[in-house]
Amino acid sequence: MHKPINRSLSLTKFLYFLGQTQIWDYRTHRIQRKHLCNSKEVGGLSLPNFIYYYWAVHIKNIMYWLDSSTQQLEWIRMEKEECYPHDIGTNLLSPIKLNSIIYKKNPIIHNIIRIWKQIKVSLKLNNLSVLTPLLNNPAFKPSLIDNTYQQWDRLGIRKVGDMYEVGKLLSFQQLKLKFKLKDNQYFKYIQVCDFMKKYTHRFQTIFLDPLEEAMNIKADSQKLISYFYNNILNRESPSTEALREDWEHELMIKISKDRWEKHLMNTHNCSINARHNLIQFKLLHRLYYSKTRLNKFYPNVSPRCDKCLFQNANITHSFVGCTKLNTFWSDIFDIFTKLFKSRIEPKTEWIIFGIIGEDTNLNKDQNVFFNYGLIIGKKLILKFWKNTTTPTVKMWIRNMMDIARLEEMRLRLIDKYDQFLRSWSLFIDFLESCDAAVP
Ligand SMILES: [Zn+2]
Repeated sequence: MHKPINRSLSLTKFLYFLGQTQIWDYRTHRIQRKHLCNSKEVGGLSLPNFIYYYWAVHIKNIMYWLDSSTQQLEWIRMEKEECYPHDIGTNLLSPIKLNSIIYKKNPIIHNIIRIWKQIKVSLKLNNLSVLTPLLNNPAFKPSLIDNTYQQWDRLGIRKVGDMYEVGKLLSFQQLKLKFKLKDNQYFKYIQVCDFMKKYTHRFQTIFLDPLEEAMNIKADSQKLISYFYNNILNRESPSTEALREDWEHELMIKISKDRWEKHLMNTHNCSINARHNLIQFKLLHRLYYSKTRLNKFYPNVSPRCDKCLFQNANITHSFVGCTKLNTFWSDIFDIFTKLFKSRIEPKTEWIIFGIIGEDTNLNKDQNVFFNYGLIIGKKLILKFWKNTTTPTVKMWIRNMMDIARLEEMRLRLIDKYDQFLRSWSLFIDFLESCDAAVP
């Protein structure tokens, strides 16, 4: 194995700082990095999280130490010899700090132990891991001198997790039946329980951490780095509950958990264009500076809408609710009505979050066009964000024509022209009929 480098968290923070200066152009960022790194399925932007990748790479290497089926590899044999007579896995997962003489101050082992400690503390893992080997464990002295634990190892009781079933400690009778132990080994069972009790609060029930659960696979499995990266990402995923509540309060509607998840997913389904996805991401995460928000930062800034000069402009008002925007949205929805030959009324929730399948009787391809129409509308409103005027439906049509040309090219190139026709032909026919109507 190459020599692992123990990188401090402060260095990672510095690297992030350098990255942030590029992303945010030295301005104060409006959202936590965790939201940006969140996966697209839950509304994030899937930006790479360096520290999670760093941990995932090392967890993959740690797996080779813990997986007994890979012990024949030369580099594992060499590192194992350095730890003799102790098990290399016990050095890593030991619930107590071990003297580095135990592994002959080997720098590879030393750094891996430090990296694991960083992971353990940062991810708040249990002090006593269920993966801790019981045999040849320096923190569990009887295992070094008593041959019974070698016998247990051969029978299948190799690690702390083997003493549990579905998170509950097995009684001696259950353990005896499961692993065919002899009656006279009850004292050994008590010894192991005493060891576990020492390093965990409620040893009778144990919480199986998702990361430790994920580490119960073979070390030579494929795509392990992505597997562990996603595992860490999912467990550290930030909650969007507060956002959902803010939208419920502002729109005065109830948004079910299931529906909210679909809205989050729609961030990247509303368009193929990354800029459009970013608009939807920023809107959903309420990152745009509305007048009411600016008023909170700077009390001398009026919260009144610059367009209607009548109501306070929160995000919903700025995108949909303003009376000056009524014509813009109703003209767009009139076009939708003509295209789909069914009356479609403007709905604030649809404009803000986009359309999801169950909202209309439209088919999947028509919904694609509908979502493009909504995101283009929002993009135009942003162009007029600080203006007293509003965008017009003619601008919307021009932008939609540009999108149609790009979509036609894109889908032709990947041999999916049929898909383009299914989504856009009604709109193109509509434009041709409009041209024909002009004398
Ligand atoms: Zn207004």
